Amino acid sequence: MEHFSSEEWRKYAKNELTEPERELYEDHLYICDQCLEVYLEVMEEEEYSLPEMPGEEDFTNLVMAQITGEFPKEASKEQSGLPPKASRFERWFPFAFAGFMLIGGLVTMYREKNQIDQD
Ligand SMILES: [Zn+2]
Repeated sequence: MEHFSSEEWRKYAKNELTEPERELYEDHLYICDQCLEVYLEVMEEEEYSLPEMPGEEDFTNLVMAQITGEFPKEASKEQSGLPPKASRFERWFPFAFAGFMLIGGLVTMYREKNQIDQD
């Protein structure tokens, strides 16, 4: 099976993919635990870097600030062009959706497998 890299999942999380690509990624998520783990990690990173930190440098600064107990200057707030509420929803929706689908799918698969095994 071909897997997607964390870079590719990051693109997915950031909505930087075309529609057919997104569908491909989503289909893969349903069948691949390995990629799901990577995806969840990336989504977590994206979520932490969300409020006003678009770049990796800002994310590092935020992590450093949390470690040292100092908060970064509220400098980059005006950098964000997107309304925070909308982008939050857009980020969380596929995450929540994939989660629900996966749990539902796993339960169904597990049940079907048990039924087959019993024959
Ligand atoms: Zn995979």
